[in-house]
Amino acid sequence: MNRWIMLAGAAALSLACSPVLAAINVFACLPEWAALATELGGDKVSVYQASNALQDPHRIEARPSLVARMRSADLAICTGAELEVGWLPVLLQTAGNSKVQPGKPGFIAAAELVDRLEVPTRLDRADGDIHPQGNPHIHLDPHNVAKIGMAVTQRLEQIDAPNTAYYEARGKDFQSRWQQAMTRWEKQAAPLRGKKVVCHHKSATYLLHWLGMTEVMNVEPKPGIPPSSGHLTELVARLKAEPADLITRSMYNDPKATEWLSERTGIPLVALPYTVGGTPEAKDLFSLFDDTIARLEKAKK
Ligand SMILES: [Zn+2]
Repeated sequence: MNRWIMLAGAAALSLACSPVLAAINVFACLPEWAALATELGGDKVSVYQASNALQDPHRIEARPSLVARMRSADLAICTGAELEVGWLPVLLQTAGNSKVQPGKPGFIAAAELVDRLEVPTRLDRADGDIHPQGNPHIHLDPHNVAKIGMAVTQRLEQIDAPNTAYYEARGKDFQSRWQQAMTRWEKQAAPLRGKKVVCHHKSATYLLHWLGMTEVMNVEPKPGIPPSSGHLTELVARLKAEPADLITRSMYNDPKATEWLSERTGIPLVALPYTVGGTPEAKDLFSLFDDTIARLEKAKK
C-alpha cells in the first residue's frame, strides 16, 4: 500500500514537473540580466539571479551557493567592465565550468556590447576609482538593453539550437514591445531634459545621458569612495552658488549623505530603483523604467 502511494506520488510529481523542466540554466549576475533572460528565454530557461537590487553590485560575496549555481550554468550573463571584479572572477574560477568562461558562447559580458561612457584616458586605480574600464552601469539606457537583448537571443539560439524558432519569436516580440516603450518613455520624460542632477554614485549616468539630463556632481568624490564631511560641506557651498534640480541615489546606497545634502540645500531628493526589484513597482524591465521616470517627474521642481 505504502509502496503504491509512493509510486503514485512519484508519478504525480514527475507529471507536475515535466512541463517546467528547463533546457537551459542561466546564471544572471544582476537582477537586470535575470529579467532580460526571463523575457527572452521564457519557459525554455531556468534563471538564477545571483544578487538583488538592494545589494551594491560592486560588492557581492562569492558564496558557496553561487559557486554551485555557476557550476551548473549553461549561460552566464554579467555586466563585465570590472563591475563584478570583486566576486565574478573567483566564482568562475572556483566553479570550474568550462561552458561559461569568458570567450565561450556560454558567457556574456554585457558591457562589451555597448558604447561605454566615461572610459578613462589614464588608468588611475590608485585613487580608488572602481570604474577603471569606464562606467559599467549600462542597463539604465534602454537602447543598451535592446542591443544586449539581441546578443542574449543569439546565444540562446546557439546553445539550445532545437528551440531556435522559439527564441527568435520571443526576441522579436520583446524588441518590438521595447521599442514602443522607449518611444513612450522618451515622450514622457521630455520635461526632464536639461535638469541638473546630483547623484550619489555614478549609477544613473546612462539614464541621464539618455534623457538629456545633466549630472552636475556626485556625492562620492570618486566612484566607490564614501564622501567625507569636508567633501559634503564643499558640495553644499557649490550647490548654493549654482543650484541643481534634483539629488538622486540608488535604493542600494546608504541614504544618509544624500538626505543630509537635500536638507541643507532644499533640493529634492529622489531614490531610484536602479534595477528590477529596487522598488515594489519595478517588477520587470518595463516597470523599472516606468517607475524610474515617474519618480524623477514627481520629484522635479
Ligand atoms: Zn559603479
